[in-house]
Amino acid sequence: MKDKVFIGVAWPYANGSLHLGHLAGCYLPADIFARFCRMNGKDVLMVSGSDEHGTPITITAEKEGVSPQEIADRFHKEHKENMEQLGISFDLFTRTSGDFHKNVVKDVVRKLYEKGFIYEKETEAFYCENCGRFLPDRYIEGTCPYCRHEHARGDQCDECGKLLDPKDLINPRCKICGKEPTLKNTKHLFFALSRFEDKLLEWMRDKHH
Ligand SMILES: [Zn+2]
Ligand SMILES: [Zn+2]
Repeated sequence: MKDKVFIGVAWPYANGSLHLGHLAGCYLPADIFARFCRMNGKDVLMVSGSDEHGTPITITAEKEGVSPQEIADRFHKEHKENMEQLGISFDLFTRTSGDFHKNVVKDVVRKLYEKGFIYEKETEAFYCENCGRFLPDRYIEGTCPYCRHEHARGDQCDECGKLLDPKDLINPRCKICGKEPTLKNTKHLFFALSRFEDKLLEWMRDKHH
């Protein structure tokens, strides 16, 4: 039987056009590796697709005054065409709203849940009383604690490039209404990656690249 090689390439957010950084960063290296493996007789499965769930999509949609689905539809079509035009040899380039993707994800999550690898935990997250909603990282803006840039995002400061936790921001503000959000407890599901630590370390140990 042929060796099987799975290549899962980063899923681009369907919120804007791709640029050369996307291509150089993940698609071209993955494509070279996939072609190399196929030439060596391996059974390759290289997959990716449009991530239609991220807050970058809802932010673009709110800016344009259209639905998030409209933004996702537009850029999924564009990305898929771009990948074909560039000759990136995906075996599958789908989208997160597709039935095939949903079923695979549900199946994987259910199996992990049944085996006890997914657990509930309470964490603190920013909540805007005025908007009546929890605010994902990109819906929070404030002053960067490193460079004092006043419009740093909850997840990153575009001025100095540092990755941030929304709680690091000075004077955090809701990006929708500008009011100060409060911290509230919220329940989330977490994947117990730590339970795979020994297995992963063991697998890494004899790799020299
Ligand atoms: Zn900064
Ligand atoms: Zn608000």
